[in-house]
Amino acid sequence: MKFLIIIILITIFHEVKATNFPKIYGCFCEGGIITGKISENSALRIDDQKILTYNNRFIFAFGRKFKENIKIEVDNISKEFTVKNKKYKIENIRGLPQNKVEPSKKELDKIISDQQKIKEAKRIGIKKKLFNQKFILPSTGRLSGVYGSQRILNSKPRRPHAGIDIAAKEGTKVIAPSSGVVKLVQRDMFFTGNTIIIDHGLGLISIFAHLKDIWVNEQDEVVQGKVIGSIGMTGRATGPHLHWGVYLNKTSVDPMTLINFELN
Ligand SMILES: [Zn+2]
Repeated sequence: MKFLIIIILITIFHEVKATNFPKIYGCFCEGGIITGKISENSALRIDDQKILTYNNRFIFAFGRKFKENIKIEVDNISKEFTVKNKKYKIENIRGLPQNKVEPSKKELDKIISDQQKIKEAKRIGIKKKLFNQKFILPSTGRLSGVYGSQRILNSKPRRPHAGIDIAAKEGTKVIAPSSGVVKLVQRDMFFTGNTIIIDHGLGLISIFAHLKDIWVNEQDEVVQGKVIGSIGMTGRATGPHLHWGVYLNKTSVDPMTLINFELN
C-alpha cells in the first residue's frame, strides 16, 4: 500500500513538472516583444516554428501588423495567447525639404549606402542578454511621434513610423535607454542624420537619429543612463527631436512597450 502511494505521488510530481510552462515577460501586443527562459533541452515553438534560444533564453517580436492569436508550444505543452491589436494614426508632416521626400538619383545612392550600414548593424551580434529589466526614455521632452503611425510627408504617403520621437531643445542630453554595446556611429546619414546604434544583445538594437553631438565610439560598452549624445535636427527633420527606433532583427518594435513592460 505504502509503495503504491509513493508510485502515485511520483507520477503526480512528474505530471506537475511536465506542465511547467515558462514565465513569459513582455507585451503580447503589436509592436511588443516577449522573452523568457525555458529549461535545458526544451524546445520552444511559436505557431509551429522553432524559435532559436541562447542559453535557454528566447526572444520574439510581434510586428506592427500581427494576427490576433498565437500558439506557444514548449515540448509537448501548448498554449494559446491573444496578441493585442493597435489602431494607428495617420500623421501629416509638412515643411520638409522636398529632396528629403523625393530624393535625386545621386541622393538615392547615398540612401542605399546608408541603409546598407544600418542593415548590417541590425544583424544579430552579441548573443547574450545585455538589456535591462526595463528600458528608460532616452531623453526628456515632448512625445511628438508615436510608433506605427502611417506617415504622409509633404503629401506623399511614406513608410509607417518605426519608433518614437521626442522633441526638445537642441543640445538636450540623450542617454542609453538600456545597456549594450555601440554598434554603429555614423554622421550625416541622408534620413537619420548623425546616428548611433546600440546592440542590447540577442538581436535587439536601438537606433538614435537626428543627433547634434555624438559622444560615444563604436564598440564602447554603455550602461543604462549613460549620456551618448545630444538632440539635434540632422537628416530628415522639421525641428530638433530625437527619433528612437528599436528592432529585433528586422522587426520594428514599439519602444514604449519596453518601458511599460518588464523583460526578465
Ligand atoms: Zn521619428
